[in-house]
Amino acid sequence: MTYVERVLDELKKKNPNEPEFHQAATEILTSLEPVVEKHPEYEANGLLERFVEPERVIMFRVPWIDDNGKVQVNKGYRVEFNSAIGPYKGGLRFHPTVNLSIIKFLGFEQILKNSLTGLPIGGGKGGSDFDPKGKSDREVMAFCQSFMTELCRHIGPDTDVPAGDIGVGGREIGYLFGQYKRIRDEHTGVLTGRGLSYGGSLARTEATGYGLVYITEEALKMRGDSFQGKTVVISGSGNVAIYACQKAQQLGANVVAMYDSNGYVYDPEGIKLDIIQDIKEVKRGRIKEYAQRVKSATYTEGCKGIWKIKCDIALPCATQNEIDLESTKALIANGVKYVSEGANMPSTLDAIDAFQKAGVVFIPAKAANAGGVGVSALEMAQSSQRIFWTFEEVDSKLKNIMVNIYHNMDDAAKEYGYEGNYVMGANIAGFMKVADAMMAHGIV
Ligand code: NDP
Repeated sequence: MTYVERVLDELKKKNPNEPEFHQAATEILTSLEPVVEKHPEYEANGLLERFVEPERVIMFRVPWIDDNGKVQVNKGYRVEFNSAIGPYKGGLRFHPTVNLSIIKFLGFEQILKNSLTGLPIGGGKGGSDFDPKGKSDREVMAFCQSFMTELCRHIGPDTDVPAGDIGVGGREIGYLFGQYKRIRDEHTGVLTGRGLSYGGSLARTEATGYGLVYITEEALKMRGDSFQGKTVVISGSGNVAIYACQKAQQLGANVVAMYDSNGYVYDPEGIKLDIIQDIKEVKRGRIKEYAQRVKSATYTEGCKGIWKIKCDIALPCATQNEIDLESTKALIANGVKYVSEGANMPSTLDAIDAFQKAGVVFIPAKAANAGGVGVSALEMAQSSQRIFWTFEEVDSKLKNIMVNIYHNMDDAAKEYGYEGNYVMGANIAGFMKVADAMMAHGIV
């Protein structure tokens, strides 16, 4: 057994019933085989054993009262995974599927993603099994206040800086920040994704979607191509999906399909994003309304069929494991050339393998969606200095970050003999900096 196999084996024994965490750890550690072979000092210092174990796991009760006066209780989590290169940084997810395994997989991925941005941020993630869908604003506020009442003792602008994720947008960040400020009596950059009136950064809302398109644009450019005239399918219709759609359209692509968790819309004439935004951002409605409002569109119940639509570029932007092997086969048969992951771990391990074998340019989440956390780190920088950059300044820094990530992962893949394999490249490039810092800090 190799060092990596032993660590993975031990991880599965010590953390049973955490399939998402096993999946992420397997993907990451397997690709680090050539690195640990080259650096025997990592094994001598138990580096991987420490790397896979979160520095701290916080789990707590979140009681709140619903609009009928009934007491509700949810689970709260914050996994502070690795602070070797900076304070813990990573989003909060509010979704009924949230459990420790999912938060650990997200936190683990986040370590390498944050490292890839080149900015000084460690990895963490948190959330709750609370479902904001269908709740009144007052219920969401009551939940957020209760959640932060507990979380506030563990976070801080130099310790751990949460942000949004699925189910946590501007409204939730506002309520969470208000409660933090009230209890801790400080107005600091403790959360990112804040509103512009209380310390947020311009372009944070757009950052993940725009960044996803910027890195894909760089991959296209390196192959003498561009978004112009390409057919694009995007899953999801939330924050990442909407701004990926906007930037892809600005660059001349035809985005033909999007979905929410009930079903997908197909519009061969091109998605009218203002209508999607009205339905999803303003009315918090369902995407099927799009087909009622736009004649050229059709709606299909269920999500999976979206991957059978012919496209040049697929941008999965909804959730984990939304592209399985069957969907991958359909995409490849229809001639997909690029798959860039806006969501975290949207492709299963066998799907990734199939894309790579078919020569599809595959850009994994930790590189492709790092623009969100990249701009979050820029928000932290602006908060510390009490200054604010223009939209154009932040957007151009974001573009730089994404172009650098592309070249760092491309170079790392080449250096280790895996040219074009960006799973290897992104994992190796992200890991090297963290490993270096962990070695410098001694056994901690
Ligand atoms: P949102 O909550 O804004 O949107 C999520 C979208 O995905 C919605 O359209 C939602 O549908 C859909 N969705 C959620 N779960 C499922 C499911 N099980 N099946 C089908 N559709 C589903 O989240 P974000 O856009 O912020 O996040 C999307 C992904 O991007 C996540 O994986 C997140 O971790 C990742 N990400 C987000 C970043 C950010 O800055 N926001 C940064 C980096 C990564 P519905 O409307 O029906 O709920």
